Amino acid sequence: MSRFRQEWDLIPGAAFVIAGVVYLAYLALMGFVWLAGPMSAGDSIPPIIWGWFFVTAAVGILMALYVLLVGYVWADAKRRGMNSVLWVLLAIFIPNAIGIILFFILRDPLPVPCPSCQAPATAEQAFCACCGTAVRPACPQCRKPVQEGWTHCAGCGAPLEAATAGQ
Ligand SMILES: [Zn+2]
Ligand SMILES: [Zn+2]
Repeated sequence: MSRFRQEWDLIPGAAFVIAGVVYLAYLALMGFVWLAGPMSAGDSIPPIIWGWFFVTAAVGILMALYVLLVGYVWADAKRRGMNSVLWVLLAIFIPNAIGIILFFILRDPLPVPCPSCQAPATAEQAFCACCGTAVRPACPQCRKPVQEGWTHCAGCGAPLEAATAGQ
């Protein structure tokens, strides 16, 4: 649960404001629709109409949650060193939340903090951009990050056994 809490705290305050505005605007719009439609017809409201009130409110909550999810995509993309503007646009404009689903499938791994200065280093970084400390094993020839178990560097083809054994 604390992990959820941690992720929830990522959502920027602006997303909560926009979600609230979207929710209220939607309710106001539906209020007008109701006043102009079913409620103008007579003074007694049949019970089935009350069911639709709840559906209306639930749809509004879903819309607000969607805004919060887009806010999360923005913050999470930024944290992972991805293109946050691009991912927010994909999340908003690809219908049926497919942009958001794609984000969760394709997102980069979380950056690791530099052991020396705590600055975040993304998966593409072998060295800290702030202080130059090595944050993960690197190819001795081209200095690109290499993964455990590789016998040769994927960037330049240099043999790696000595380099990874030393790390
Ligand atoms: Zn550092
Ligand atoms: Zn290399």
